[in-house]
Amino acid sequence: MQYGLLSSAIYDLTEEIKSIKKLGFDYVEIGIEEPKATPQILIRQKAQILGLLKEYRMQALGHTSYWVGFGSSHNKVREGWIAEGKEMIHVAASLNIKLLNFHFHGGEGQSMQTKFGRDIFVSNFTDSMLELSRFAKKSKVTLMLENVPLQRNGPTIKEYSQVIENTQGLMVHLDIAHAYTEGGMKMIREYVERFSDKIAHLHIHDNHGEHDEHLPLGMGTIDFNGVASMLKGMDYNRTITLEVFTSKSDAASSMRYLKGILG
Ligand SMILES: [Zn+2]
Repeated sequence: MQYGLLSSAIYDLTEEIKSIKKLGFDYVEIGIEEPKATPQILIRQKAQILGLLKEYRMQALGHTSYWVGFGSSHNKVREGWIAEGKEMIHVAASLNIKLLNFHFHGGEGQSMQTKFGRDIFVSNFTDSMLELSRFAKKSKVTLMLENVPLQRNGPTIKEYSQVIENTQGLMVHLDIAHAYTEGGMKMIREYVERFSDKIAHLHIHDNHGEHDEHLPLGMGTIDFNGVASMLKGMDYNRTITLEVFTSKSDAASSMRYLKGILG
């Protein structure tokens, strides 16, 4: 198992990599987003970033903004985001990132209030993922989709499954805490069982089942012993990012706690 931390785009990425290494994480999940880590800025910093990763023997994964509108019915907006997505894939490939995430987020306004609107959202989102997956394949980058059922009337596991099943090569990036807000421990189990052969990466943090709080492990109500036994049950041995937002040292403490229960 490898444990990592997400870099913040508020700070310079090279400084983020140094502090993530110092805290004992195995890899960095690079946040490719505004303001300080847009594709344009990261391309300019490419030599320094690759130099640091080599010196620290750290791998990098890619993480993009959660609010991107890949399911929008405003076609010019959606096409614009697909073009931006290709820039993100390009910068990922330039930084030797093999695994890049996008988020299953969307459904603004009244679009998710009816089956009609939800079907259009899922169809648009799937079309965007199909185009980006084909593009990523040429760049030798694998795309994964993170579950984000957070907003009111947000996308469900059923809709998430439709996108995954209809997009060849698109892997599952399971955010355990997001699944918990969708339906508690039962929903975490459902995601794990339904996608066990497609889970490429995990995000772990804590909450009280209502909001996406990104708390240190133990500060919310998720049963992490239960989560650990599910992960052991599927022999999960890939990457886990501690997506704790209270502080980097809290994320490091959560990593030690998780290592303790995962053995
Ligand atoms: Zn996440």
